[in-house]
Amino acid sequence: MARYDLDLFVIGAGSGGVRAARTAASLGARVAIAEERYLGGTCVNVGCVPKKLFVYAAHFSEDFASSRGFGWCPGAVEFDWQTLLNNKNKEIARLNSIYRDLLKDSGAELINGRVRLVDQHSVRVNNKTHTAARILVATGAWPSIPDLPGNEHVLSSNEIFFIKRLPQRIIIVGGGYIAVEFAGIFKGLGVDTTLLYRGPLFLRGFDHEIRTALATEMQKKGVTLKFNTTVGGIEKSGEELIATLSNKETSSNASQRADLILYATGRRPNTAGLGLAEAGVALDDSGAVIINEHYQSSVDSIYAIGDVTDRINLTPVATAEGTALARALYAGGQAQVDYQDIPTCVFSQPNLGAVGLTEEKAREQYQDIAVYTARFTAMKHSLGGSDEKTFMKIIVDQASDRVVGVHVLGADAGEIIQGLAIAMKAGATKAQFDATIGIHPTTAEELVTMREAVSRH
Ligand code: NDP
Repeated sequence: MARYDLDLFVIGAGSGGVRAARTAASLGARVAIAEERYLGGTCVNVGCVPKKLFVYAAHFSEDFASSRGFGWCPGAVEFDWQTLLNNKNKEIARLNSIYRDLLKDSGAELINGRVRLVDQHSVRVNNKTHTAARILVATGAWPSIPDLPGNEHVLSSNEIFFIKRLPQRIIIVGGGYIAVEFAGIFKGLGVDTTLLYRGPLFLRGFDHEIRTALATEMQKKGVTLKFNTTVGGIEKSGEELIATLSNKETSSNASQRADLILYATGRRPNTAGLGLAEAGVALDDSGAVIINEHYQSSVDSIYAIGDVTDRINLTPVATAEGTALARALYAGGQAQVDYQDIPTCVFSQPNLGAVGLTEEKAREQYQDIAVYTARFTAMKHSLGGSDEKTFMKIIVDQASDRVVGVHVLGADAGEIIQGLAIAMKAGATKAQFDATIGIHPTTAEELVTMREAVSRH
């Protein structure tokens, strides 16, 4: 008789957990997966998917304006938030049921409820104890809002996807992916939008020049950017919210009014109340599960993948980890994900896509680098009338001629960067970029026609 009820008990049915459960079950493991909230986790319900739908929605305002240059007369266009919300909700419900079917078809048992660890091999959910040879923690992360007076009046990215009415004025606090993406979304939907960031320039960690270029483009589109700015407190006056602001550079204070304030100030690993520490699982200061290179926690039978480990918090990383771990455990594979040169895209307006090193990091890591840039107006805007500039940057290690970083600011940068990430994985050199024939007329062809380095270091 088997020693445990199950081979694997997965806590959390987000991107990583579902992938691990499905893969393990399809390899013959006896698997159960528990979820207390929604199937598909943050990405499907309050993250990547609804965000991208909102990004599409927001972009139409520019398209309507540009269409005039191409002979269209769109007349008076109106936007209805409720229609977008309803259609988005329907699409998410469709995806939730696809996730349900995928799990069912794989043979994994889905349990709806909140889990608490009992010991190294057992969990309790819905008043029932399940034993498992292995337990996988894939509970993701949760928005973190700083402690400040009046923070009960603000929303996080969890709630912003369900607001009943579009505000007239919004303040967005933060300078990461979520803040920048939502600034583009709300501005595109016609909302008076202010982004407040505590540092000198948002998107810390991305290439400095491309961050600057994005800030310029966002300002041109009418987003108010206030950097070096912190919020001291928030008051509610009737329907209005009043934020007290301090500017670090000028040492000045001011207040700003809005109908809605979104805090996008990072996310914390979702480990509270799971009983992990009590079961002996070591957590770091932020609450993240500490794992080794096999995704194993300090307790041999307990594993963790995805955002709950707070390493590279991206959906495709979590799914890759889920696949790798399940194969390693049940098909004798290697639990190894290649974390080198992970491409990423901020779905700002315009998009910012990047892979590899920033110029700043490349200068630190390589003796001699060459930097190639192109800044131009995309063909669509020649008739469309937008003054949006596309900016591209390639960074090359001069000793090997290998391309070590590519950064694109412009329409569909995410789509463009994906292919370049493959080229970089294959070790492409600048000479091979140059030998590649462009596709004319496209924006992306600029990436194979940058002949003169703008700087060498
Ligand atoms: P990020 O970690 O990207 O950014 C958090 C931002 O909030 C930073 O600008 C940070 O400033 C600022 N901040 C943190 N604490 C405070 C504070 N107490 N007061 C004021 N500002 C503060 O988090 P997000 O919430 O934007 O996104 C969470 C994660 O979700 C990201 O790390 C990303 O991995 C993922 N994501 C990915 C997307 C994509 O792939 N397109 C889209 C959305 C999210 P500072 O820089 O100074 O630390």
